Amino acid sequence: MSGTLILNASYEPLAVVSMRRAMLLVLNGKASVVEAGQGWMHSRTSRYEVPSVVLLQHYVRVPMRPVPISRRAVLQRYGYRCAYCRGYGDTLDHVVPRSRGGGHSWSNVVVACRRCNHKKADRLLAEIGWRLPFEPTEPAPTPQARAGLWSVRHPEWAAYLGRGEPELLAG
Ligand SMILES: [Zn+2]
Repeated sequence: MSGTLILNASYEPLAVVSMRRAMLLVLNGKASVVEAGQGWMHSRTSRYEVPSVVLLQHYVRVPMRPVPISRRAVLQRYGYRCAYCRGYGDTLDHVVPRSRGGGHSWSNVVVACRRCNHKKADRLLAEIGWRLPFEPTEPAPTPQARAGLWSVRHPEWAAYLGRGEPELLAG
């Protein structure tokens, strides 16, 4: 039960909602199912195929606001990869530590593994001879990024997310 992808009437990905909520949109005529998922939902009188992707009947205008920085968004943007040793990481690191005046912004926050995070502590990279292999930047406010769709959770979503995958930094 990992949700239903909602597409705007323009076929742009908009959000992921619970299957129940998606089903209500469909039953109320506000959306149509474009990809069925696996399984069924039952009401008292009938059963419905669970929707995996639904399309809104009417276009919803979405303001192009920047992508909010959150723990999950940062981890997903960098694919849970430590910026320093490139291994698996699940903590956030402020490149310039907050105690040294670094901000909590896309240009100063990367993923670090626990080990690197602990080793770096509240020091500057120059002080320990470390380098970042890339420049941390704010992600482009694509519909995918704004909807928090950093990864394809279902194979059948891939076609609708297009090349909206975040540019995972090489290396
Ligand atoms: Zn590391």
